Amino acid sequence: MIKYINVKSKTRNEFIDITDMVQDVVKESGIVKGVCCLFVPHTTAGITINEGADPSVQRDIVQALSRLVPHDANYFHREGNADAHIKSTLVGTSVQVIVEDGKLVLGTWQAIFFCEFDGPRHRRVAVTFLR
Ligand code: ZN
Repeated sequence: MIKYINVKSKTRNEFIDITDMVQDVVKESGIVKGVCCLFVPHTTAGITINEGADPSVQRDIVQALSRLVPHDANYFHREGNADAHIKSTLVGTSVQVIVEDGKLVLGTWQAIFFCEFDGPRHRRVAVTFLR
């Protein structure tokens, strides 16, 4: 069983907290104990787990990635989004979260972020479980 979470980004580079949506999928699945696998089927987006309490952290990560990988840098890929492809590979396109007692096991300050690097777009995140 694969469920999809739909995400709509509003800007070119953006982190979107999807923790509550993932927890809803866990609840709907009825799974009590196992592993939640999240996968982003896109080449210019990613997924990561980091601090959700202070939005400055997300902004700092977005800015740091843009310093590391500038939008224009004489890339071979001429579609105009080479930076987004590189950021996707740096961040990665999957994470796994342990599920215990029907809840995602996350640290107090942790949240799951969909990472947009070539928005605004309609995106999706695939969710499945290992039991
Ligand atoms: Zn491209």
